[in-house]
Amino acid sequence: METMIQKMVTEDREIAKRAAEIWRSGGLVAFPTETVYGLGGNGLDPRASEKIYAAKARPSDNPLILHIADDDQLDELTTGVTEWMRAVMEAFWPGPLTMIVPKSERVPYETTGGLETVAVRMPSHPIARQLLREVKLPIAAPSANRSGRPSPTSASHVIEDMNGRIDMIIDGGDVGIGLESTIVDLTGARPMLLRPGFITPEMLQEVLGPIETDLAVFKQVSAEVKPKAPGMKYRHYAPKAEMKIVEGDREAVASYINQKLAMQQDKKIGILTTTENQMLYEGGIRISVGTRASLLDIAHNLFRVLREFDAIGVDAIFSESFPAEGEGLAVMNRLLKAAGHQVIRV
Ligand code: AMP
Ligand code: MG
Repeated sequence: METMIQKMVTEDREIAKRAAEIWRSGGLVAFPTETVYGLGGNGLDPRASEKIYAAKARPSDNPLILHIADDDQLDELTTGVTEWMRAVMEAFWPGPLTMIVPKSERVPYETTGGLETVAVRMPSHPIARQLLREVKLPIAAPSANRSGRPSPTSASHVIEDMNGRIDMIIDGGDVGIGLESTIVDLTGARPMLLRPGFITPEMLQEVLGPIETDLAVFKQVSAEVKPKAPGMKYRHYAPKAEMKIVEGDREAVASYINQKLAMQQDKKIGILTTTENQMLYEGGIRISVGTRASLLDIAHNLFRVLREFDAIGVDAIFSESFPAEGEGLAVMNRLLKAAGHQVIRV
């Protein structure tokens, strides 16, 4: 299949119409959102959902998020709009917040991975909003990477993973946030955080009252820890090389990694470091993920840096650790998954 690659820096009706036509006829279009690039298809068309799974090589029990442009569109996707849903819409939409709600009959099981619930979000990115307004359909759009690879934060990442597999890629430049949306499940007795993101637990609590956190946000999946978001059970966001997180004070971390470097001089060792610490390492392939003064900066760069290590073809990666608070919660959640929960405490 030939993939049309289309630059779209500002809103452009002609391009939006072309994307909408592809969606209406069952095709796939990748587009930028404020979190990461999404791989979109008509979320009400079971065959479009199947195409998304095929293009990503994603396991079909891992449900898709529906993207909408208007509050009203939620009505037809769920069995009834509740107070919690209204509060979330008012506080966080449009924006990087996905809610899990009971699904209506209109939503096919192919889209929800067989579940009775559906994930819905209203993105704020102006290009995403224009496309969604034009098509007037809920668009199922998981991250536009091949399953298991780090999520795409620029069109070049999408081209790497999807060229030749989908109908169109809309190049809207780099995304802003760089990590996927926060997911909150509103179908239980209490709201539950399933995936941390830019919207922090503190922000959710202000609007929804006390919330719970799914154990799988930080713990490795096991017989006791079964994630409520099926996607969280896969080794996700991962670079090709094995990655280990080294945790401790900065000198101890650097001396541990330097020791490893000295022992493996014949290997290409990647070090995921920060502006403040990169000078502490004696060798290795150091890539700074940003400054410790801004966890937002680190969130923004994380997936790009993981892809850079892939492109260089390193044999192994050591990563520094970050405080798991505020936006750092999302950073550490992705980093732990990328490392398959391998943490060395020094
Ligand atoms: P992605 O769009 O690739 O960032 O992944 C979507 C995430 O949302 C995955 O982790 C899914 O498992 C999760 N998700 C989607 N729908 C549901 C649902 N109905 N219940 C729980 N988690 C969901
Ligand atoms: Mg994804």
